[in-house]
Amino acid sequence: MMAAIAASERARVTLFDKNEFPGRKLLQTGNGKCNFLNVSVSEHDYRGSVRDCGIFGDVYKNYGPEFLLELFSSFGLLYHIKNNGYYPRSDSSGSVNDILILELKNRGVSFHPLTLVKKIEREEDGFFLTLCHLKSGKKGRDERKYDTVIITTGGMAAPKTGSTGDAWYFAKNFGLQVEEPLPALTRLLSEDPFFNDNPVRAEVKITLFIDGVPSGVSKGELQTGSSGPSGICVFDLSGRVAKALKAGKKSRIEVDLLPEYSEDQVLSMLKKRLSGGNSCENPVSLFTGIFSERLTVNVINKISEELFSGQEFPKKPDDKELYNIARLIKNMGFSIYGTGDFNSAQVTSGGIKGESINPDLSAKGIPGLYFAGECLDIDGNCGGYNLYWAFASGYAAGDKGSKP
Ligand SMILES: Cc1cc2nc3c(=O)[nH]c(=O)nc-3n(C[C@H](O)[C@H](O)[C@H](O)COP(=O)(O)OP(=O)(O)OC[C@H]3O[C@@H](n4cnc5c(N)ncnc54)[C@H](O)[C@@H]3O)c2cc1C
Repeated sequence: MMAAIAASERARVTLFDKNEFPGRKLLQTGNGKCNFLNVSVSEHDYRGSVRDCGIFGDVYKNYGPEFLLELFSSFGLLYHIKNNGYYPRSDSSGSVNDILILELKNRGVSFHPLTLVKKIEREEDGFFLTLCHLKSGKKGRDERKYDTVIITTGGMAAPKTGSTGDAWYFAKNFGLQVEEPLPALTRLLSEDPFFNDNPVRAEVKITLFIDGVPSGVSKGELQTGSSGPSGICVFDLSGRVAKALKAGKKSRIEVDLLPEYSEDQVLSMLKKRLSGGNSCENPVSLFTGIFSERLTVNVINKISEELFSGQEFPKKPDDKELYNIARLIKNMGFSIYGTGDFNSAQVTSGGIKGESINPDLSAKGIPGLYFAGECLDIDGNCGGYNLYWAFASGYAAGDKGSKP
């Protein structure tokens, strides 16, 4: 939609979508509230060859967060900031989608719903599309000729919303390189009994180790379930885990359950609890006031397993045992064997490689063909970064692609 809006400044634009209306995934974003931008966006919030080749930097320079906010304001969207994220003032993703659809109408963009683009061919004097109308079943080559084609068909995350990786098929047909797509911003899978049907939430710091090497740190609310860890701080590491596991590397996370306290401070808290002859008849009392009841259950089981070989928790742990408990609370390790699939992922890591794309988002060696959004090999953290990229790169491609 952003690409069409920008291109409509100078060109006659036709927009095809296989859905009945554009922006179906947009409606699901931010739990239906649409976190479309973060208060602080920089290239450090992204990964992938499109960032590494400097293309993100070029888009950011010309179509940065200020530009996007001014653009949305000029369309008439009211917005506000919550938890460092920009949301529509209505707190409804429908407002963002509706304002974009209104803008498309006002600018005379011709929208073709339920229209699947099956093939894109370049001939000497322009591009020709093969289309399939999903309701009537009518299919065939569209005889209209297009000077420019901008592909924004997304990645493969949440495929029910329509993004099924078609851009990569088109790109490969044009001889462009595609980095293997993998799910990102999704949960991690672990067989550790810490993850069970006693779900917990806790503010933690997580360090990711790939083949024993620290490969990322993330802070925030950890959520646990029977299949493994989840929550935004986990999502932000999941793309790296998916890539590592695909490459046959080992992934492990270490969770710091009390990141705002040092190991020494945790040790003194535990010692204080046991001072004056107090024992922990019931080990739960050792953590009263420190962890929630639910978390305490899982922590005690983990400590018993790791430090006491599954035996009973000692009634009065000695200094060495308390030291080991404090250490474990600060570095609780879990092996990770997988990630959630594309159905549960918010974005795709991988896609059309930066090496195949020019700084203006056109395809190398194919004049008039542009790509934008999630189909490119770049993915951002959770918190408005991916929609920023989708909107900014879409506008950039439409703007550059419509220049004579
Ligand atoms: C549950 C969920 C929540 C999210 N929340 C946030 C959030 O709060 N903030 C944030 O920044 N990001 C969020 N994201 C990520 C964000 O939604 C995506 O990064 C963004 O939508 C990508 O935009 P896009 O235009 O590249 O692709 P998409 O939004 O996937 O759009 C692609 C469009 O192309 C159409 N299409 C595909 N193939 C064809 C074809 N062959 N012919 C015709 N049409 C085709 C599809 O129907 C679809 O409408 C979330 C994602 C999910 C799944």
